[in-house]
Amino acid sequence: MAYDPNNIFAKILRGEADAHVVLDEEHCLGFMDLMPQSPGHTLIIPREPAENIFDLSSEGLGQLISTTQRVARAVKAAFNPPGMMIVQLNGADAGQTVFHIHFHVIPRYEGEGLTLHARSVASPAELREHAARIRAELESTP
Ligand code: 5GP
Repeated sequence: MAYDPNNIFAKILRGEADAHVVLDEEHCLGFMDLMPQSPGHTLIIPREPAENIFDLSSEGLGQLISTTQRVARAVKAAFNPPGMMIVQLNGADAGQTVFHIHFHVIPRYEGEGLTLHARSVASPAELREHAARIRAELESTP
C-alpha cells in the first residue's frame, strides 16, 4: 500500500492538525497521544514519510529509535512510572491504526490492565500539562 500523505500524523507534521508537542527536531517529532493508555503516553514519529518499519530508511530508523530513547527518559523522569512499554505496530493486522510509523512510549503502573488502544480522548488541559512536564525534562537534559 502506498503511503497516504493525508494520514493524521502527516497533517500534524505539516501543521495542518494540532498536537501537544514535546519535541520538534530536524528528523523527528514527539507529541502526546490523544487517547492515552496511561498518563504520559507519548508518540515519536520521523519526518520521513514511511508507513511502517519496512518502508523507513535505516538512517531514519536510527534517528527515530534514539529520539524515542531520549523521549522515554524524559517521560520516565516526569512521571516516575515503575515500568515503561515501548511499542511499534506494523499493519492493520498488528493493530496499527495510523499509517505513518511511530513508536509509543507508555508508562506502566502495577495492577494496570494492558489495553493496546484506549478509547477516550484526554482533556486538552491534561495533555498540555503532561507535554509541558516532558518538555521541561527534555530541556534540562543535554
Ligand atoms: P497505532 O494504533 O497506529 O499504533 O497508534 C495510533 C495512535 O495514535 C493511537 O494510540 C491513537 O490514540 C493515536 N491517535 C489517533 N489519532 C490521533 C490524533 O489525531 N492525535 C494524536 N495526538 N494521537 C492520535
